[in-house]
Amino acid sequence: MTFSRLASQTHDTSQKSSRQGAKIDMVICHHMASTNSEATLSEELTGSRQVSSNYIITNTGEIWGVVPEEYRAWTSGATKSQNPADNGKGAAFDRRSITFECADQSTGGSWPISAASQDAIVKLLVDVHQRYGIPLDRDHIVGHRELYTRWGASYATACPGGMDLDDLVSRAVAQLNNATSTETKDDDMARQWLMTNGNNWAITDGIWKRILAGGNDDIQDLIDRGIVTTDDVTRAKSGGLWSSDAQWNTIPTAK
Ligand SMILES: [Zn+2]
Repeated sequence: MTFSRLASQTHDTSQKSSRQGAKIDMVICHHMASTNSEATLSEELTGSRQVSSNYIITNTGEIWGVVPEEYRAWTSGATKSQNPADNGKGAAFDRRSITFECADQSTGGSWPISAASQDAIVKLLVDVHQRYGIPLDRDHIVGHRELYTRWGASYATACPGGMDLDDLVSRAVAQLNNATSTETKDDDMARQWLMTNGNNWAITDGIWKRILAGGNDDIQDLIDRGIVTTDDVTRAKSGGLWSSDAQWNTIPTAK
């Protein structure tokens, strides 16, 4: 079962299908038309409706994994009565997509999405871009209604409500560029330090960079995967190289 590391809880459901070999190259964004993430999760798990999504994004910005990414979730298929011309096109979009259902902040009107949910969407977009190479542009990150208006697939719908995908995609691009430049800088610093201090330090610069940049979750992940030991981390922290450039300058005594 593959889920994003960003997911705070993960599930599995029988409401899913094979991707039939389709390459993942899109994200389809939905809103729940509801503020109630628990109710949506229950629908996706218990089969009270024939719907599901790879992820649920809550009002507080939590990301829940529901349909493992290996599988096609049931978000955009259309019945003959919904759109006679669909002819399986909506399902084909689901097969090539990571999909999510985002909670609305309130129902009706402009169907707003909370700031925390928007932040979570931006992070998830960056994450799936990094893992699948999904281009961060508006031909590959689309709202449900665009399947119908642009490609005649699925059915006419207001989904995903007030979600501003132009804004969210441009924020994802900015976040990616920012992360890339920070990464490069940390790599350079790490390389420089290792060159002047030899290899008494067992942690490679890539790991170094994660320790510098990461929160506790990242560190725990590195420990869990056996890449560093808790002792390495203690040494790194006590060397004063925990977070900032200024602290970086105090490293050379830490070995
Ligand atoms: Zn939808």
